[in-house]
Amino acid sequence: AKAAGKDQLVLYDRRLREERLQRTRTVERLRGALADSELLLHYQPLVRLADERFVAVEALIRWQPPGERLVPPDAFIPAAEDSGLIVGIGAWVLRQACADAAPWHQRHGTLLSVNVSPRQLREPDFAAMVRDALAASGLPPQALILEITENVLVDAGAPTELALGHLNALRLAGVRVAVDDFGTGYSSLAYLRDLPIDHVKIDRSFMPDRATGDPRLPLVKAVIDLANGLELGTIAEGVETAEQAVLLRGLGCERAQGWHYARPAPAAEVARLLAAGRRA
Ligand code: C2E
Ligand code: CA
Ligand code: CA
Ligand code: CA
Repeated sequence: AKAAGKDQLVLYDRRLREERLQRTRTVERLRGALADSELLLHYQPLVRLADERFVAVEALIRWQPPGERLVPPDAFIPAAEDSGLIVGIGAWVLRQACADAAPWHQRHGTLLSVNVSPRQLREPDFAAMVRDALAASGLPPQALILEITENVLVDAGAPTELALGHLNALRLAGVRVAVDDFGTGYSSLAYLRDLPIDHVKIDRSFMPDRATGDPRLPLVKAVIDLANGLELGTIAEGVETAEQAVLLRGLGCERAQGWHYARPAPAAEVARLLAAGRRA
């Protein structure tokens, strides 16, 4: 038994080393990808539930290594965060997304949502970087929503001063802040009241698929009621059916995002959807 345990340990150790090596390789390739413009953005339109018209888009990053399949963010964002590469990647995302969205905003009033990693908010010049991207593109600050996760602001139980400072400064300039994947982290309800945020994005895992008897129903309802009570905007993620859309609207949810309305797509395709105003 002792020998078997030792074998297990050796195996475990080897697997750990292989994982680490794999990650190092990903980071090296990713560094090249950023330099060689292999990163690109897709956009997913969001609707206002009251009339189901497109009112915003979320920028979602992809990686296109030459001759290979498109790589989804979940396969490289964690490595980018660990290595710090996310700082450079995130700055690129912001500049590119603001530039793409500026004409959409001008023509249709479309808002732009951009994902921000915790690591980015720990950079002293994060707020200045955001202001530069806005200024360079001509997108007004009021058209930008930064999506952060709950853990960004709460490090070891206390909000991180630097992150808070950035968000406060940007909000004063007119930028809006959304808590992404709400309900999946260490949410304390008090954070919603105390933190510098404007919208709550309800995580896809809370989306009920039945209008009665679904155990997720009371949870989504509670989150929407709470957000409405605090005068925060509400956005439901992962809306895949018309039934879900009707349900959410009935619960008083403001906006929705999901395959029922539109999948993430390249900028040119999204431009056509925004011009049409509603789902194809
Ligand atoms: P997220 O911010 O929660 O983004 C929503 C994800 O849900 C996207 O996956 C989107 O394609 C997917 N989705 C949208 N509608 C539906 C639906 O109706 N059903 C289902 N099943 N899925 C839906 P994606 O594009 O693979 O992005 C995954 C995650 O990668 C994002 O989750 C976000 O956390 C991260 N990410 C994406 N772009 C960036 C970026 O520019 N910077 C950073 N830091 N993270 C990013
Ligand atoms: Ca997001
Ligand atoms: Ca999300
Ligand atoms: Ca999510």
